[in-house]
Amino acid sequence: MSTSGPTTEIRALARYLEAARSLVVLSGAGISTESGIPDFRSPGGLWSRYDPSEFTFQRFCANAETRRRYWEMGASLYPLLKRAEPNRAHRALAALERRGGLHRIITQNIDGLHQRAGNTPERVIEIHGTALEVTCLSCGARQDRDPVQARFAAGDLDPHCECGGILKPATISFGQAMPERETATAFADAAAADVFLVVGSSLVVFPAADLPAVALERGATLLIVNREPTLYDAAATLALHGTAGEILGGI
Ligand SMILES: [Zn+2]
Repeated sequence: MSTSGPTTEIRALARYLEAARSLVVLSGAGISTESGIPDFRSPGGLWSRYDPSEFTFQRFCANAETRRRYWEMGASLYPLLKRAEPNRAHRALAALERRGGLHRIITQNIDGLHQRAGNTPERVIEIHGTALEVTCLSCGARQDRDPVQARFAAGDLDPHCECGGILKPATISFGQAMPERETATAFADAAAADVFLVVGSSLVVFPAADLPAVALERGATLLIVNREPTLYDAAATLALHGTAGEILGGI
């Protein structure tokens, strides 16, 4: 970010956020990089070290060896997520909720950092699921991931549920259907927003990338905070380029 102008832009951003009556936020990987969680899609990120086509939902369900490799990948990734602390961008969004006017945060992240920063869990929609819980693919029961990852570490290489079903981290994998209720709520929220703020998402992963279009169609003010330009910048009232922490921290 250049040193000329950003202060004025950040002040303008703050004014729009302050005036919002039904603010909806879409957050992506860029909001969590300052918390030490690398963007999985970036060079050097998770998906440059592991082949995503190996970890499709279909393969996970069909193949015990794929499941073993998935839990093994989790053994290095999960502690990183557990250790991460919310940063000033997360805290700014929590402060916006306390002030009133923030209706929903729709996040593409699986790290739970919005809730840990103080946003009400009911106001956070995790459209790609959460890495902090495990779900049974048969009975649907959810549980904390700690004991399951510990079972893997102790030699249970294909952990199953009490019901006999396969256990899987509660993230949405490649090839797995989006969670229906969460996705429907996200689109309804976008349609009802008066201000729609994108933070740290390059808006290339669908269906999340469709949300700003829905908000714009219904007359919302679109605000974008992202390191790189996005396809929506031209349609946005404000598009600020820089880190989420330095920009949202500045409001
Ligand atoms: Zn089960």
